[in-house]
Amino acid sequence: MGKEAERYVVVTGANKGIGLAIVRQLAKEGITVVLTARDATRGNVALESLKSQGLHNVNFHPLDVASQESILALAEWLHKTYGGIDILINNAGIINLDKDVTFETVKPVLDTNYFGVKNVTKALLPLLRDDTPGGARVIIVASLLGQLKHLENKDYVKTLSDREHITEDFVDSFVNHYLRDVVDGSQKEGGWPNWTDWVNYPFGRPVETYSVSKVAVIAYVSALHNTLVAQPGSGKKINVFSCCPGYVATDINNNKGTKTVEEGADTPVWLALHSPEEGIGKFWTERKVVDF
Ligand code: NDP
Repeated sequence: MGKEAERYVVVTGANKGIGLAIVRQLAKEGITVVLTARDATRGNVALESLKSQGLHNVNFHPLDVASQESILALAEWLHKTYGGIDILINNAGIINLDKDVTFETVKPVLDTNYFGVKNVTKALLPLLRDDTPGGARVIIVASLLGQLKHLENKDYVKTLSDREHITEDFVDSFVNHYLRDVVDGSQKEGGWPNWTDWVNYPFGRPVETYSVSKVAVIAYVSALHNTLVAQPGSGKKINVFSCCPGYVATDINNNKGTKTVEEGADTPVWLALHSPEEGIGKFWTERKVVDF
């Protein structure tokens, strides 16, 4: 049997938590991993910890997903260093740190969890190669908090349920509408997720913006899939998936989660390795498709 072609994967927000566990598991599979982090010191510490575990097929490059300049610098470096990549895993994410839901607290969450994911994906799509079996893959780590049952706005639930017709422009307008309603203080009238018991919620922080951002990325995966299948002439096969890692003990929930990071990494890693044809464009958890 001939030697398998070398494969390359980029993981965002990978200096700790689920992202670092994803890097570790993929590196153990023999895939060359680009561990990215917004802070170079934290990224390099993570890289060294992997090397000390005998994993030398990992490289580091800075990436702040909320900065277009940083995204373009990574794309250029990947192009020069590897020529292309095979898999992209958008894992970076944040939650409101402040209990007040205002433009200032909401904007960074949307910029990281939605616009950041979208901008990284758009910049790296041209670098994706589909010459490994099953095609190129883009995996986006979302959350069960992004399921439509958390939205009270019935019009959005109806439109976003029609997965095959979701467009990227529509998802942008959905996110921008939420931001406008935050500025106007009319989230309740707008039918946005309303977590009145947020203090008791296991994340211990307000999750409504986080929830909107995760609805948006799950919808974005469907929209991107629709765009990709509508352009068969492009010749490239790129499979996109969204997934929830489960409730995992990490800094995002003050380590209250019940799963380990290795368990949380399982579904994103499994999707990266298996790219199941029947679930392309869909939302996954525990290695199964679940309702959006
Ligand atoms: P962590 O807080 O442990 O990790 C989040 C990672 O994202 C960190 O590496 C953080 O970097 C990075 N990050 C944040 N902002 C940026 C940015 N602008 N650019 C690049 N990297 C950034 O949380 P988790 O490991 O739990 O979260 C990983 C993903 O899993 C997130 O998308 C989260 O929403 C999702 N998720 C987690 C669940 C859980 O129960 N833990 C449940 C459902 C989904 P830094 O160290 O610099 O802050």
